[in-house]
Amino acid sequence: MSDAYDDQNIFAKILRGEIPSFKVYEDDDTLCFMDINPRTDGHCLVIPKTPCRNILDATPAQLAACMKTVNIVANAAKKAFDADGITLSQFSEAAGGQEVFHLHFHIHPRHTGVPMRPLAPGDMDAIKRHAEMIVAALG
Ligand code: 5GP
Repeated sequence: MSDAYDDQNIFAKILRGEIPSFKVYEDDDTLCFMDINPRTDGHCLVIPKTPCRNILDATPAQLAACMKTVNIVANAAKKAFDADGITLSQFSEAAGGQEVFHLHFHIHPRHTGVPMRPLAPGDMDAIKRHAEMIVAALG
């Protein structure tokens, strides 16, 4: 059993509009925005709009909603970056590598033979431009 949901986490604040983000996509149930420490160009995050800590307390409805958005955004990101593939990752609890405790799925456009970068602050102008590229590819 995971710990309780804390509504002061960074992604809850993004959902409430209390801190800014580069939005890529949203529907009634999910939001996708850029990661500010991108491990690849186009690194973005899909989250449910309802409270949920991680994969351990997620409901089937939350997971289904997130996967629907992952599918849409992954295809757009692959197109936007002319990528060869996509890495999708999800970390649950600190021992699993989780740092922000609101369920999220990382989408990484990947190019053959190109490793992911270490986690480090990205260039905000580049992140903004990359968000616009994915939005444009969404059509
Ligand atoms: P985790 O390790 O929990 O799966 O990943 C959390 C992710 O959230 C990291 O990739 C980190 O770069 C990203 N992140 C942390 N703080 C912020 C923030 O304030 N805004 C955005 N857009 N991403 C953040």
